[in-house]
Amino acid sequence: MTTIIKGNDFASDLRGQIHRQTALLQENYGITPGLAVVLVGTDPASEIYVRNKTKQAIAAGMASFEHRLAASTSQQELLALLARLNENPAINGILVQLPLPARINPDSVINAIDPSKDVDGFHPVNVGLLVTGDNAMIPCTPLGCLMLLRHALGQQQQALAGLKALVLGRSNIVGKPMGALLVRESCTVTLAHSQTRNLADECRQADILIAAAGRPGLVKGDWIKPGATVIDVGINRIITATGRTRLVGDVDFDSALGIAGAMTPVPGGVGPMTIACLLHNTLKATLKQQGIPASNGILGP
Ligand code: NDP
Repeated sequence: MTTIIKGNDFASDLRGQIHRQTALLQENYGITPGLAVVLVGTDPASEIYVRNKTKQAIAAGMASFEHRLAASTSQQELLALLARLNENPAINGILVQLPLPARINPDSVINAIDPSKDVDGFHPVNVGLLVTGDNAMIPCTPLGCLMLLRHALGQQQQALAGLKALVLGRSNIVGKPMGALLVRESCTVTLAHSQTRNLADECRQADILIAAAGRPGLVKGDWIKPGATVIDVGINRIITATGRTRLVGDVDFDSALGIAGAMTPVPGGVGPMTIACLLHNTLKATLKQQGIPASNGILGP
């Protein structure tokens, strides 16, 4: 029997908690967390992501500041906007939607965000803090995966300790931070990628398997250790035999059913957690900037 980890339900609960905590912050301190989302150009997928982020921030009781810039915006103009957002006390979190137009260097842009407002957790200061174990801003997708893992395996501190974890993918936004987070949880971590030898055998060793390769159905049921917890980060649009498009993950869901102990579906697994964790990070950034201790009941996980 495979338990399906319902990311939609978990994310909805998390957004509800954040909304209540935002209300408490407003009542007790008169503070409304502010999130600035910057979009350069008109990439249709990015437009949808930005719209959803803005909508959910407002629904969680936050102030949302959307900055839509023309595709022709220069790097200098974008950096000037970020400098203003860094200085603006009404803004606690800044997110620049990626990918950026090819003319703009994404590293320069990420480096220009005040690390205390870097709610995506991509700034090198936050990457370093994640690795050294300090109070980092953790990238949203890996944070969401960790929350789902704890939900599946237990909330107590050592629930993941000693388990073998394999992260399939080593990108800066998912694979690497996921690996660092699992090391922090005292897992024994393997970071696999396109050059990994005997990938199926490596996967079969794992008690926890995080698939983030962006390859539809790459992980077959017989790659999975019976009873393992499988988190499928992949979002792949495929064309079915009937000519319709469908979203699938990196795990071949049907063959994994009955082998995995617990598994996230696609869609409805990790996807909804990413924006919920963005709101979580915005609340966390607000508390940190205002010097309000997280232990006062306002901040959740
Ligand atoms: P990247 O393309 O940046 O990284 C993919 C990684 O997978 C690379 O490290 C690559 O190896 C590895 N890889 C690719 N093919 C194989 C293979 N056949 N065998 C082994 N390893 C392989 O992707 P992202 O990390 O940005 O995203 C991964 C997936 O997660 C995508 O489907 C994306 O859409 C999804 N995603 C979902 C999010 C959500 O909210 N649910 C958020 C972010 C991403 P190498 O380094 O050697 O090239």
